[in-house]
Amino acid sequence: MADPAECTIKVVCRFRPLNSAEVARGDQYIPKFKGEDCVVIAEKPYYFDRVFQSNTTQVQFYNAVAQKIVKDVLDGYNGTIFAYGQTSSGKTHTMEVSYFEIYLDKIKDLLDVSKTNLSVHEDKNRVPFVKGCTERFVCSPDEVMDAIDEGKSNRHVAVTNMNEHSSRSHSIFLINIKQENSQTEQKLTGKLYLVDLAGSEKVGKTGAEGTVLDEAKMINKSLSSLGNVISALAEGSTYVPYRDSKMTRILQDSLGGNCRTTMVICCSPSAFNDAETRSTLLFGQRAK
Ligand code: ADP
Ligand code: MG
Repeated sequence: MADPAECTIKVVCRFRPLNSAEVARGDQYIPKFKGEDCVVIAEKPYYFDRVFQSNTTQVQFYNAVAQKIVKDVLDGYNGTIFAYGQTSSGKTHTMEVSYFEIYLDKIKDLLDVSKTNLSVHEDKNRVPFVKGCTERFVCSPDEVMDAIDEGKSNRHVAVTNMNEHSSRSHSIFLINIKQENSQTEQKLTGKLYLVDLAGSEKVGKTGAEGTVLDEAKMINKSLSSLGNVISALAEGSTYVPYRDSKMTRILQDSLGGNCRTTMVICCSPSAFNDAETRSTLLFGQRAK
């Protein structure tokens, strides 16, 4: 088995197909794929651990990316999968699941809507956790899906003119796995975080004002602090700025130490989204 103190961070990239509106508009399909790890946009190559073309199925993606992390979590590692990208680039589609959310840097419990501003505390081992967050005891995949559906219906969505349902919050789904061997009484714990990040698009394109503009600033701030943490970890730097946002604080023990982290960079293939796609790809490259 690998060194348990070792932390691996992978960055993969996935392009969705052109959607019907893009096809109807006659949008150009811009990515060119080279091998398994490179995508070229406007003659510039971007390299990742893996690049997934538009025709990749959910099963192929799961087998290539998620399966290994789920297995490592069962072996006691902390796993995290992030989906990063502009609205409608395929983040939610890629996570399949979509609990608490972070909206305007406030933590809301998606399994108990009366809890709207939870705080981050540290346990006796200095591991951060969200205090008072609802925990569900689940024994079957159906029970996990029920919890997900309940959380989903409580997610905050505001309408922007980019997309009818643009997600303006990060949603974090945590699965805590505790196993006990009845013969040896050995206990093994692992955590799996599935993080569906808020849309990374720049404010200009969506024509945001007022609260929506405040949201966009907060989203940009928390996404850039996530980028800073991941690039500090990737560079092996001694100072990692976990405390800059609630999200990086909560995920601290899953982003450093005994962790398996994968960032999925989700992209639209349409020429219409060219600028956003390039900034999304650059965000992903910083983490490498
Ligand atoms: P996001 O969460 O990034 O805003 P979604 O995951 O909701 O975007 O995707 C937007 C739309 O595109 C959805 O209707 C989704 O089903 C579709 N879609 C996204 N990725 C893919 C894909 N790889 N293959 C087929 N359809 C996709
Ligand atoms: Mg989404």
